[in-house]
Amino acid sequence: GRTPPPPHKRPIQCISQWIGLGVLVREYASLSHLDKQYFGFPGDILMRMLKLVILPLIISSMITGVAALDSDVSGKIGLRAVVYYLTTTIIAVLLGIALVITIKPGVSQKAENIDRTEVTQNVNTVDTLLDLVRNMFPENIVQACFQQVRNITKDYIIVGSYSDGLNVLGLIVFCVAFGLVIGKMGERGRILLEFFDALNEATMRLVQIIMCYMPVGILFLIAAKIIEVEDWEIFRKLGMYMVTVLSGLAIHSTVFLPLIYFVIVRKNPYTFALGMAQALVTALMISSSSATLPVTFRCAEENLRIDKRITRFVLPVGATINMDGTALYEAVAAIFIAQLNDYDLDVGQIVTISVTATVASIGAAGVPNAGFVTMVIVLTAVGLPANDVTLIIAVDWLLDRFRTMINVLGDAYGAGIVQKLSRRELERMDGTSDVTNPFAL
Ligand code: ASP
Repeated sequence: GRTPPPPHKRPIQCISQWIGLGVLVREYASLSHLDKQYFGFPGDILMRMLKLVILPLIISSMITGVAALDSDVSGKIGLRAVVYYLTTTIIAVLLGIALVITIKPGVSQKAENIDRTEVTQNVNTVDTLLDLVRNMFPENIVQACFQQVRNITKDYIIVGSYSDGLNVLGLIVFCVAFGLVIGKMGERGRILLEFFDALNEATMRLVQIIMCYMPVGILFLIAAKIIEVEDWEIFRKLGMYMVTVLSGLAIHSTVFLPLIYFVIVRKNPYTFALGMAQALVTALMISSSSATLPVTFRCAEENLRIDKRITRFVLPVGATINMDGTALYEAVAAIFIAQLNDYDLDVGQIVTISVTATVASIGAAGVPNAGFVTMVIVLTAVGLPANDVTLIIAVDWLLDRFRTMINVLGDAYGAGIVQKLSRRELERMDGTSDVTNPFAL
């Protein structure tokens, strides 16, 4: 895909501007409550634009992604890759959730007296899970886009699944099913596929335009936040949040991925990672898995000698749908925001976060800050205030780099693993894999 320029080219300078503006206004202008709201206006507009693209983004990227899988993939190899992508993404999400629940970056250290008379209190786990499943099957696809739905047995609004009137989970299930069907329809399905493909491209262009406005929007979002801050503890929390995401990424890339590789391939996973070093550094520098792709190919094919028939499928598809780092980050960020708001998540909501974080990472394009845009989907799905992303956006330039690196590493391990698992098919295909080289499997 096309790569928009990173919104903040000189992050440190940008951050000092964001904070500087906030501190200046805070010190020298005495703003009334209403003035503060006006001041935050450009930032509100950014948030509204981000939410605006959620619907077309989910629909077009899910349908085209799923439909394309079926036609491009040569059977078993594709299936293995997809199983690998999903397994590792889910492991990353679970790891993120475990860490953020243990470290509790968003929870105040001071004991606070908060009135938690939420409707969630009278809901039991079975009810929540049933609601979750019920919401996966909206009765009406148009209604799923805008209406809040009440629990059928008890009269309350379903907290876990609807907010801002968008049934994200229901839409996702529908799109996956629809995409699968279109993929199987062959020639007849082509017109629909092209339609959604074009819709996807148009939406991505819109996102790029929004990205241009991002520096301005962020400036005001953050400055307005700083004007409002009464409790500086928020910066401690933000620091802990970064520590949580970064340690999750470190554990996933140095323990889980290597372990899976070792169990299946029986070779030193760290030597493998070293072979990818150049791609990893590139990813760190440019925060885009798509733009890193040429380097990823080179490292995988030349340093690690992975069969081209494998890399040509596993790497590009992986760069668009396999994003372990992004999935981990989305889960941590959503729960961090819940913690900031003293919002008690129930089992159903944690399951929803896991599912939507997985899907949002699949839906995110391999371009800078894409994971941040799709995170709004996760927040919407569990009814968390999307406006709190203000805090997270301030540090996204840094986290984005590291998660992109893990995304690329995950794709590379995937290529190694799928090659090992597919060696019979490869041998059967004409021009068997290169058996003379030392890395060949
Ligand atoms: N920048 C990431 C990538 O290209 C996506 C993200 O924002 O998480 O892989």
